[in-house]
Amino acid sequence: MNSNFYQYNGKTKFIFVTGGVISGLGKGVAAASIGALLAGKLKVIPVKCDGYLNTDPGTMNPIEHGEVYVLDDGGEVDMDFGHYERFLNVTARSDWSLTMGRVFKRIWEKERQGDYLGRTVQFIPHVTDIIKQHFYRLAEQENADVLLIEIGGTVGDLENQFYVEAARQVFHEIGSENCLSVHLTYVPIPNGVHEQKSKPTQMSVRDLHERGIYPEIIIGRCEEYLKPHIKEKIGLYCNLPASHVISGLDVKHVYECPIVYDREGLPEILSKKLRIYAPPRLGEWSHLVDTLKRNEVSPRKTITVAICGKYTALEDSYASVVEALNHASAHLDLKVCIRWVDTEKIENDAVTVETAMNGVDAVIVPGGFGSRGIEGKIELIRYVREKQIPFLGICYGMQLAVVEFARNVRGIKGAGTTEVEADGIPVEVPVVTYLPGQENLKEKGATMRLGGHDVLILEGSRARAIYQEARIRERFRHRYEVNPKYVKDIEQDGLVFSGKAAGEDIMQIMELTNHPYFMACQFHPELKSSLLNPAPLFLGLLRACDERL
Ligand code: GLN
Repeated sequence: MNSNFYQYNGKTKFIFVTGGVISGLGKGVAAASIGALLAGKLKVIPVKCDGYLNTDPGTMNPIEHGEVYVLDDGGEVDMDFGHYERFLNVTARSDWSLTMGRVFKRIWEKERQGDYLGRTVQFIPHVTDIIKQHFYRLAEQENADVLLIEIGGTVGDLENQFYVEAARQVFHEIGSENCLSVHLTYVPIPNGVHEQKSKPTQMSVRDLHERGIYPEIIIGRCEEYLKPHIKEKIGLYCNLPASHVISGLDVKHVYECPIVYDREGLPEILSKKLRIYAPPRLGEWSHLVDTLKRNEVSPRKTITVAICGKYTALEDSYASVVEALNHASAHLDLKVCIRWVDTEKIENDAVTVETAMNGVDAVIVPGGFGSRGIEGKIELIRYVREKQIPFLGICYGMQLAVVEFARNVRGIKGAGTTEVEADGIPVEVPVVTYLPGQENLKEKGATMRLGGHDVLILEGSRARAIYQEARIRERFRHRYEVNPKYVKDIEQDGLVFSGKAAGEDIMQIMELTNHPYFMACQFHPELKSSLLNPAPLFLGLLRACDERL
């Protein structure tokens, strides 16, 4: 038999999560929450199937697609992987993400190799085979107890239909005792009607039935707990016990979802149906969620954090930054209020820095690209440096903090980043420039410095006090860096590069010594933050505010 051919390993249970009625119901969070309930005891591998033809979201605008999430192995993936890693406590791998772009690439490779010699290559069986093979291979290679497969979009979307068909075939091949379908729908309470409505769910499930998939668990997203008679009705029309209809309650913090599902009896249904034993372990998690909820209502202290960037029109663009703030706030028993600051408005003088910063306790300048809005960011950074406002610069935020310092403290007037040259803006003194080898790269996809790298932390620095470790590992996604040629020049008057790459001349953390909290990093600490283990640099930022107020 062909060594590239995988069969069902006989062990792994498959859970397919689909969505219906409308998009934006939080399928990723729902899938991650199911995973969180199982992952206490079992090895759960999350898989995301996206219908688009990009290889990965790496070249998409965050306004279009939300944040690009970066994995330790360098994969650029859908932001749902942020939920998976945070809820399941796993380090995900690139090939847990499947896109139609990847599926078709594989088809073309196989066709050119001659794997289909003499045959007509067709959507069925060939496309569905590639998808199923992917699932079986992952189950085998990861030795997974559970493969938790989220199918993107809503059932009925053309671009996702081959994933749904592949799921149907998996049910057929490995038996329904090894598979489970969970369908997330919407239960609206229309204005003026004041009643939960089950019809959209019925129609969406009918759609799924037509495709040969019979969901055994329905999660109905609703602004309140589902009423018993609605559960009965959905059960009756959709062919399942009312107890298998779970309230997908709207919650303020996504971390509440596994707790809601637990209360609704989901773990018992999963255990019984898949014949697995996996009591959820939510103790510490529940405690932190309670703290978040308590601070929502009667906060011990409220801290206003400004997130300053150009993608503020879609908050999902900075999803992990927001989550990292939530994690740190739960540990410090604080409420965080986020103020979105569009740095283009500052740059164009539509808003003054003083107005934007009025009442702000801390400032984050997150990752970014290109020249738009950067002079606004630099102005803001100058303000927080001079006014001693706690600051965290991330990736572009660190590069621009270095530019600001070079210009306004070191007096290097022409300091800038060569990143703006692509937009025709000349740079006299390139204090931030291409990473080695990046200058002549023509291809844009997956060519940045990506993924996990070690950071060596200087003894005696604030970074060392924050991390309490000499060597850490964080995740990167950048094409430019602080120009090593200027490091000596810049590193005076209180600026210290306190984190560097191991064996390479890449500056990875900078800090100011004469400031209550001015930290910036070339990596994205938000990508490794979780409710149980908040990112140290975020904890440090909020702690600095807590001490000041
Ligand atoms: N644009 C910068 C670079 O490519 C920063 C990237 C980022 O913030 N993720 O280096």
